[in-house]
Amino acid sequence: MRFDILTIFPDLLQSPLQEGIIRRAQAGNLVQILAHNIRDYAQGKHSMTDDRPFGGGEGMVMKPEPIAAALDHVSGQKAGGHVVMLSPQGRQYNQKVAVELAQKKHIVLICGRYEGIDARIDRYIDDEISIGDYVLTGGELAALVLVDSIVRLLPGALGCSDSADADTFSRGLLKHSQYTRPREFAGDMVPETLMSGDHQAIYEWRLLEAVKRTMARRPELLQSVQFSTIERKVLAKHGYNIEDFCESTKELKKLKELDDAK
Ligand code: SAH
Repeated sequence: MRFDILTIFPDLLQSPLQEGIIRRAQAGNLVQILAHNIRDYAQGKHSMTDDRPFGGGEGMVMKPEPIAAALDHVSGQKAGGHVVMLSPQGRQYNQKVAVELAQKKHIVLICGRYEGIDARIDRYIDDEISIGDYVLTGGELAALVLVDSIVRLLPGALGCSDSADADTFSRGLLKHSQYTRPREFAGDMVPETLMSGDHQAIYEWRLLEAVKRTMARRPELLQSVQFSTIERKVLAKHGYNIEDFCESTKELKKLKELDDAK
């Protein structure tokens, strides 16, 4: 997979791309991540990348020509890239979108600054993504969020003992709580079952914990979880009937919708 990131602050991207799993994935050739300075594609003596808005008003707007030239350069290198603009007005990013984007061979990320980018760049864009309902000073941190969450999904990126399948959100459940040594910390013991070596009991404890956490923190997620027959049996054995919570979360959702509509 390959990422090309267009930015006026390429240095801002460096350190997060040079540590941990992301560094290892690049060293192992699972992914190539290149930052391009939009300023290198700007014209004129001052290599301007922004200018005042037509119609007046606050702030500066990023000029279209340097971005179009940078896009031309990166897609010329490898055709068929998926061009994403980071923007607070885009579709909301989540694990499902990360999984979708992890299937792509080539992603181009455009980072805005100031008041955003001249609207005539829109026709070069395949996808516009927001990492949440708040406004950043620039798209770089958002681009890093995408790269980080997508790269860890690439086969071989995580160590073999670590699996993206069991992660929070990967199937709609939050992950169970986790413990490591020491067995006792500040008077608090690790749950007995986890130290028992009984794999079936550990599996059941973790499943139950994940379901209980999800119910307590994000009940609306439970509606879209597909439980296997084995999981249903385990949960029923511990007194949890999945159909009951799905019904009750639907009720909760309806109540919330009614409340929101008021
Ligand atoms: N004036 C714009 C906001 C510009 S913020 C507006 O009101 O819509 C400057 C840049 O930061 C944007 O062009 C975008 O690239 C990035 N950015 C800000 N918030 C973001 C978010 N929540 N998700 C993704 N990118 C964001």
